[in-house]
Amino acid sequence: MKTFVHRGQITKVVFGSGTRSRIPEEADALGCRRVLILCTPGQVDQAAEMRDLLGAAAVGTFAEAAPHTPVEVTHQAVTYARSVEADSVLAIGGGSTIGLGKAIAVRTGLPQLALPTTYAGSEMTPILGETEGRRKTTRRLPEALLRTVVYDVDLTLTLPAAISVVSGINAMAHAVEALYAQDRDPVAFLMAGEALDSLTRSLPVIARRPDDGEARADALYGAWLAGTCLGTVGMALHHKVCHVLGGTFGLPHAETHTVVLPHVVAYNGPAAPEAMARITQALSADDAASGLFDFAGRLGAPRALRDLGMPESGIEQAAELIVRDGYWNPRPVDRTAVRTFLTRAWAGETPR
Ligand code: NAD
Repeated sequence: MKTFVHRGQITKVVFGSGTRSRIPEEADALGCRRVLILCTPGQVDQAAEMRDLLGAAAVGTFAEAAPHTPVEVTHQAVTYARSVEADSVLAIGGGSTIGLGKAIAVRTGLPQLALPTTYAGSEMTPILGETEGRRKTTRRLPEALLRTVVYDVDLTLTLPAAISVVSGINAMAHAVEALYAQDRDPVAFLMAGEALDSLTRSLPVIARRPDDGEARADALYGAWLAGTCLGTVGMALHHKVCHVLGGTFGLPHAETHTVVLPHVVAYNGPAAPEAMARITQALSADDAASGLFDFAGRLGAPRALRDLGMPESGIEQAAELIVRDGYWNPRPVDRTAVRTFLTRAWAGETPR
């Protein structure tokens, strides 16, 4: 008999093509009359389109969202939000921009809407990651949850193929760890499996044809499911490793997930047979870890931490940080084992 607890989501989700045209009515439905638009410097054109669409309901654009949500940027954004008397925020972009929206929301209580343009999945989680100095912290806060997420497949068409691939594998990592999460439930397991099916199907097509609308829709659907998994069940060793590597060495987020995932799956495999069976099914492979490693290789994604800028001398420090705080993992974690798989991941060797 299964015993479980399932937490539902409060976020309203709208999914389709051309759905960004619904933003004014979705903002209005939340009672938002003074929307502050957030984006990165690279996405000001998409933000401008939303400003035109919102008309008088858009009170400003803050275009300085940055990776890993630095608190200095958040303070500037909060000051700006207050100066224009914003009553809500609309993030258009990937995890960096959505992270800024969450950071503003937890400080001001403003409701948030988002138009996600990558596959990172932050829009579906109550997780707020922030960086102060070189230290990155992560908290689960109900105030960080978004009210409305509008997925518009059209906005993802401009995401370059190489970024799409690693962003999609970042989403797959959420699904993989949901399959063996300590608090997994039947719904999360189904969503995670479906996410893996759609991402393993769509990413190879996007790698060849980034403008393929059907594949883009399939990938964004998988990213939504994977993000929902990340938001509802706890993650384990893989997310811990990526958090440490990103925070300590400033490695790029999605690329780090892409390199590390096969190695953690190889390590956790013996303790999570049901999850491994679902991953191999999605990949049509014989083995989950080598299947993920080969998948990344076929798509031209990075497979070595050294290629992302990690110094070899950092392996020991990383291993120590990864085992330092207690957290749940299907297989007990020790420093020697972590050092061994990090060494292989650093060099780009096959997972074992
Ligand atoms: P990102 O948001 O930094 O985007 C990467 C780059 O791609 C940016 O320059 C962005 O402007 C550009 N871009 C995004 N969408 C585009 C599009 N459609 N067309 C053209 N360019 C586009 O990267 P990300 O991987 O989405 O997010 C990473 C960040 O999100 C990290 O800080 C990570 O910690 C965080 N994150 C948080 C959660 C959470 O639940 N809190 C989950 C996943 C990721």
